[in-house]
Amino acid sequence: MNVFKLGALLCGVASMPGAMEAALPHSPDAVLDTLPVYRGNDLELTVNHSSTTFRLWSPEAEAARVMIYPTDRNSSAADTLNMSPSVDGTWVASVDRRLTGWFYTFAVKYRGVWLDETPGIWAKAAGTNGERAAIIDMKSTDPEGWDADRGPVVASINDAVIYEMHHRDFSIHPSSGIVHKGKFLALTEAGTATPEGEKTGIDHLEELGVTHVHILPSYDYNSVDEANLPSNQYNWGYDPWNYNVPEGSYATDPAAPDVRIREFKEMVKSLHDRGIGVVMDVVYNHTANNDNSNFSLTAPGYFYRHNPDGTYSDASGCGNETASDRAMMREYIVNSVAYWAREYHIDGFRFDLMAIHDIETMNAVADTLRSINPSIVIYGEGWTAGASPLPAERRALKENVALMDGVAVFSDDIRDAVKGHYSDASDRGFATGKPGSEETVKIGIVASTAHPQVDYSKGNNSRVAYATSPRQIINYVSCHDDLSLTDKLAASMPGSTEAERQRAARLAQTIVFTSQGTPFMFAGEEVFRDKKGVHNSYKSPDSINAIDWSLKSSNRPQFDYYRELIAMRRNHPAFRLGSAGEIARRLRFDDNGSNPLLVSYTIDASGLPDSWSKIRVAFNGSDEPQTIKVAKGRWIVVADDGHLRADGLADENGEAVTTRGGTLTVAPRSALILAQPAK
Ligand code: CA
Repeated sequence: MNVFKLGALLCGVASMPGAMEAALPHSPDAVLDTLPVYRGNDLELTVNHSSTTFRLWSPEAEAARVMIYPTDRNSSAADTLNMSPSVDGTWVASVDRRLTGWFYTFAVKYRGVWLDETPGIWAKAAGTNGERAAIIDMKSTDPEGWDADRGPVVASINDAVIYEMHHRDFSIHPSSGIVHKGKFLALTEAGTATPEGEKTGIDHLEELGVTHVHILPSYDYNSVDEANLPSNQYNWGYDPWNYNVPEGSYATDPAAPDVRIREFKEMVKSLHDRGIGVVMDVVYNHTANNDNSNFSLTAPGYFYRHNPDGTYSDASGCGNETASDRAMMREYIVNSVAYWAREYHIDGFRFDLMAIHDIETMNAVADTLRSINPSIVIYGEGWTAGASPLPAERRALKENVALMDGVAVFSDDIRDAVKGHYSDASDRGFATGKPGSEETVKIGIVASTAHPQVDYSKGNNSRVAYATSPRQIINYVSCHDDLSLTDKLAASMPGSTEAERQRAARLAQTIVFTSQGTPFMFAGEEVFRDKKGVHNSYKSPDSINAIDWSLKSSNRPQFDYYRELIAMRRNHPAFRLGSAGEIARRLRFDDNGSNPLLVSYTIDASGLPDSWSKIRVAFNGSDEPQTIKVAKGRWIVVADDGHLRADGLADENGEAVTTRGGTLTVAPRSALILAQPAK
């Protein structure tokens, strides 16, 4: 979700409590802070060969019980177990047999009232709509070869090329040629193609060359009715229900608890088999419901922050915000991501509205995940969607990213500088010919690190070099939020031709993919997909959100450009310098005076493990040619006038295009990239 907009609109259908709703009675925050903390690893459910044990953390409950059900919904309890008080605020019940195949819920008595049933906050399997938790043999959900399954090894997050996609966007269109449209299994199908014969699905991802697929929320969320899937509901999924269970609507059978788990793992394994990692979008910052969330029905008040009058505070814009600064909530977030990393082999996490969380929690997340897998990538939105009672100095804000080792933030600096402000459709940026963002483009190029030639006082968004390492920055010009790049260009370039807009898109993405830091792109932009001009398409139908893969044929040169751009970046460590010091030392901007819409620089790659020793990069955002001075010598031309090839452009005879330097023209609205091969 994006910053400072009507975030509540994104939060699904069942939340929207409004300011009028009184919160469930609960203890004051000062009391909640003192409640006992349980750090055992047996919360919720433990199944042994001859017993089943339930443990619930509910420190203020007066009584607690477990209901056992034969089916996932619409059946009466076969048994009710009274729970006994145990250590550190927990309650325990046990039976002397394996209850595999059964379903269950908890209920607690609080201030004299039995609250509604809940599957608990640690349910790892669930049936339709996550109403009831399920007892299954998790081992039986492992696909063949799962024990040996590994994601890609990534020495630095800067080596990643991240592709952000929604399951339905990616496969639902008839042109995808995919059988399991809109499902986890879509990403397991090899050999799929458009009617024109272009690769789709996982083959397409491999052809494009991305290293990580970032999947929009894929835990069990609230808004899509899993009992009514033929109605083709669409939602981004920023309305969490069961955090540790995959979403049922992306499974072929939401009622069978093992199916969604197995299919999720098959998706991960298929991507891993192609060398592609999986990043999960996680939304621990708020829940779909307030008083009826699994958190509230387990320990009223505890997992949330409040206003002084006891009502829910709302930094998420969705009616509530969680309290990562409270011990059991921090424990919950850390253990939940660790669970996904271990059980599902997830390779990275993207934290929605990360600044709702506190810095200490994000550092605990990073430490824990790296101890599981040093290649795990962690990034998030370094902002909130509203005011929070948590003091700014404790928040995981973009401006505080230097305090979080191993966590990156999205650069809204480069995003808005390159394409224009996200909140004003008609606003243009550097790549669409609006002067005034040159310095902010430079801020993006150096990944918001201190650089002797960058004047942060001229930054459009941030005015300080908030990053101390390029590993802290995710560069992008668009994502699922707001107008897609295609739509933004259409809205801000009235009267333009599609060819002109595609040219602008190439320039915009060339700036992103050559910048220091980590590049990130929105699925389908490589074929110039749009969202029909809808910016907040969180529940728009497939007709708005689906990627029409027939565009891959009609926009084939666009796809080729993106593929070559990604290959160029991946082939050359010079675009992925390891530290702020290296950037300051090796990256030198030209002095283009007050010449607007021209940014150019040289990277000295000598001594790096790079087949190029020197790289010249120039961006011309204007619709007039501009010139730069290039040192004499033999340069291969990698990008020029809207064309790019990773190994260098070739003429019609297949000969390498080269130049001897001197005063060279940067064609209108395009990038010029030159390189000198290392000796
Ligand atoms: Ca669901």
